[in-house]
Amino acid sequence: MTVPEMQDDVAAGVFSMVKKLLLKRLKELHVNVVTKVKINRMVRKKLSYTVYGVEKLLEFDDVVLAVGNKPDETFAKLKGHEKYTFVGDCNVVATAVEAIRNGAEISLKI
Ligand SMILES: Cc1cc2nc3c(=O)[nH]c(=O)nc-3n(C[C@H](O)[C@H](O)[C@H](O)COP(=O)(O)OP(=O)(O)OC[C@H]3O[C@@H](n4cnc5c(N)ncnc54)[C@H](O)[C@@H]3O)c2cc1C
Repeated sequence: MTVPEMQDDVAAGVFSMVKKLLLKRLKELHVNVVTKVKINRMVRKKLSYTVYGVEKLLEFDDVVLAVGNKPDETFAKLKGHEKYTFVGDCNVVATAVEAIRNGAEISLKI
């Protein structure tokens, strides 16, 4: 199994203890983690990616795409309006912990 990651490191933003255990588990399972990778295309069970300017091919059976999230902008036009308050992932996609803290902080101001 291979995890291609576009950033310089995997699990950016994951709590350090959780990250340490996660990476240890991946190593035990012989998961190949490749960073600084840009995926170009997938054709006939082959994935093309570029790493350090060199194009490589990786054969696969299955692909799981986990390429990040962005805030739901459905109500973005209401931002700044005094009647509405935005809490959590609709501002910045982060963690449940941060969404709860954000909600608690805002509740103290209302
Ligand atoms: C796969 C995955 C794993 C995660 N694991 C973790 C983790 O281990 N630890 C951690 O801390 N965080 C984790 N997160 C992040 C965490 O889930 C979010 O940061 C957190 O849920 C954000 O809370 P929120 O209340 O802002 O948004 P949400 O939890 O997304 O709540 C928004 C709610 O609004 C509802 N909604 C949306 N539009 C409308 C509408 N028009 N009308 C009515 N309701 C609407 C949605 O159905 C949803 O119930 C994970 C996220 C994902 C995707």
